[in-house]
Amino acid sequence: MRLEVKNLVKTYPLKRGEPVKALNGISLRFPEKGLVFILGKSGSGKSTLLNVMGGLDKADEGEIIINGKSSKDFSGSEMDSYRNTYLGFIFQEYNILNDFSVKENIALAIELQHRKADDAIIKNILEEVDLVGYERRKPNELSGGQKQRVAIARALVKEPQVLFADEPTGALDSNTGKQVFETLKKLSQTRLVIVVSHDREFAEYFGDRVIELKDGVIISDIIKTEEKAPELSEGLTLVGDSLIRIEKGHKLTNADIEKINGIIEGGEEAYVSVDPKVNKAIAASAMIAENGNRQRFSKTDNEAVDQGEGDWKVIKSKFPFRAAFRMGAKSLRVKPFRLVMTIILSTIAFTLFGVASTMATTDLQSMVTSSVFDNKVDTAFYKKTNQAGILSGLFSTDSNAPLSNEEVQKIRNDSGIDLRGEEKKRVAFANNASYSNTVYDPNVYGLVKADQDYFNSVGFTFTLGGMPVNDNDIVITKYIYESLLDSGVATEADIIGKKSLDNAYTICGVLDTKYDIQSIKAKVTDKAPTATQIISMLNNDRQFSFHSVGFVKNEVTPHAVIGKMPVGNYFGVSKAVAAYINSYKQVKSRLENGDSSAYYMKLCNSIVTECETIDMLFGVLSGVFTGFGVATAFFAALLFYNFISISINNKRREIGILRAVGARGWDVFKIYLSEAGIITAINILLALTFTFLISFAVNNAVRSGLAFSITVLMPGIIPIALIFGVAIGSAFISSFLPTFRLAHQKPVDAIREK
Ligand code: ADP
Ligand code: MG
Repeated sequence: MRLEVKNLVKTYPLKRGEPVKALNGISLRFPEKGLVFILGKSGSGKSTLLNVMGGLDKADEGEIIINGKSSKDFSGSEMDSYRNTYLGFIFQEYNILNDFSVKENIALAIELQHRKADDAIIKNILEEVDLVGYERRKPNELSGGQKQRVAIARALVKEPQVLFADEPTGALDSNTGKQVFETLKKLSQTRLVIVVSHDREFAEYFGDRVIELKDGVIISDIIKTEEKAPELSEGLTLVGDSLIRIEKGHKLTNADIEKINGIIEGGEEAYVSVDPKVNKAIAASAMIAENGNRQRFSKTDNEAVDQGEGDWKVIKSKFPFRAAFRMGAKSLRVKPFRLVMTIILSTIAFTLFGVASTMATTDLQSMVTSSVFDNKVDTAFYKKTNQAGILSGLFSTDSNAPLSNEEVQKIRNDSGIDLRGEEKKRVAFANNASYSNTVYDPNVYGLVKADQDYFNSVGFTFTLGGMPVNDNDIVITKYIYESLLDSGVATEADIIGKKSLDNAYTICGVLDTKYDIQSIKAKVTDKAPTATQIISMLNNDRQFSFHSVGFVKNEVTPHAVIGKMPVGNYFGVSKAVAAYINSYKQVKSRLENGDSSAYYMKLCNSIVTECETIDMLFGVLSGVFTGFGVATAFFAALLFYNFISISINNKRREIGILRAVGARGWDVFKIYLSEAGIITAINILLALTFTFLISFAVNNAVRSGLAFSITVLMPGIIPIALIFGVAIGSAFISSFLPTFRLAHQKPVDAIREK
């Protein structure tokens, strides 16, 4: 491992006053192993130098060269990889992750290097720092010294070639502090350890090299060398000119005593100590190594420093998703009220989008088709509809326009429905003068010539009696018949030839028109109609044609065709409905192009009319909902942004720590992606649930209001995709910015507590 820095300059601009030159041209070459101290008063630039060398901070000028690779040539996240691969950090404030146990803190460092954090590795490292049995403890259950040992273990477990420590003993008592230095000394036998300290005594005692800073400049750089102290005789050495060392087990000879006398001749006071504590202190202050060698500091020759070997080969960090997810999930709890508000607002917005797009994507054709199919409505009517009907969006009928035989044939071909048109004259219903000139109500969808031929073709049968013979004979439908019985106007026995209606007609037959009697009954009234209502229906309210009412002799309609829908076959019904809708679209475009003569054949029955109304209503509502949705989504996104920003702020220090350990900006991104992801997943789930619930509620309301089982709202793939898209999109936009800013921050800015 070769580490070198060249001409580092770092200036901090101040809001007031001259900028501070924290580093002012620092060049250093480091040895492959050994304990290097950086000494200096507070504010001299020690931490800045360490942070720059460790890639936590960026210098304004100069470069770091690691194994021949200059930081000037770093690209992307190589600085992070450099930390991840080569470095271990130990800080004064320990900087271990409070949400993670001892074991997890250590495991994370291993995993960032793509290694598996198995129990054996962790146990080994905990043995080294004397913390076996503390695996499951959380940092707040540890003493300061224990926390620092966890931090050391975390740094060591990466097997770093360089260990950086910034005042590692600053927060510890002197005894614990000394133990930490002893540990670092031991570690420096196999790697480079760079320690920042302001304690000169420790620095000179433990350090192999001591670099002193003042105002960002190196004022001294000394290196420790050892020389053998001269032997006075076997077992007796003279260290310097004034210290006599007697080796363990040596007995003084007469010759030795003479020599000693020669040294103490000057009359100076002398001690002979056998107290190990005193001896240690003497050795420390006189710089005597354990082997008795004399140590001496001399000026460092940077050019002569033995840098060792090594090639640039780094490991890109990989933050395990599990850990990222956990940190993300944890920070959700920080502001529960805001979180709930964010989720509520987002859910409202996305539900509005979901319902709006469900309405917008409701397809008239499938709505009609499935309703016809579900209700087993097997009769279909067509009538001509003119331009006013199309262009106003309202479906009115030109009641005076008869259908030609060709048109009837065309409808038959297009729809595939076996239908019949009628061409004969219309007969007014009653003698009543007010009806004599009335054209049938335009809403009478399908009157045809009532003859046996037609009944055969559509499968209508007489339940009682038969065709009208006299002008005042009337055939009633099974529906009217049942209504008469239900309302008590008549009994089964006194219907045919006996019962007269409106004092003008005698009932001659009851025709089963296969009409959906139940749905008509429900529409007219909850109960069966009263006698008065029946008579009034016969006279005026003939919306349901003779299928629901009845007919007199020679009764025909000039303008409608009727046929049986192939209800046994969904696709047949669908084809019939499609034929009508296509004709509608074609005519609409013709009309829009100025061709005012266009008519189209409208498929009519009560279901079609209701479906058209609902479809139109949905078109309008969907616009309204989209508008509200956009507004709500805007506020939801703002709240989301705010939430993520706050939670990032709360996690700044943790992120700084992770970066110091080796995590890349992208790893940090993952934490907040998980956080935003969790919120988004909840939003989507809720929005989908509400969209479906609202759809079912609307369906139920429509059904109970209409007496048809129409399925009007069915969230399909488009609304579901839209909810996913909008939710993910807005989460991405609102969490991207703050996260991006954070990920591109210098680690030192995150780690520095504010
Ligand atoms: P040391 O670690 O030796 O105490 P530092 O490296 O922390 O010193 O600081 C060196 C100088 O740079 C000091 O004068 C300090 O005030 C200044 N300094 C450090 N960090 C900042 C900062 N973020 N903004 C402004 N000035 C800073
Ligand atoms: Mg400092």
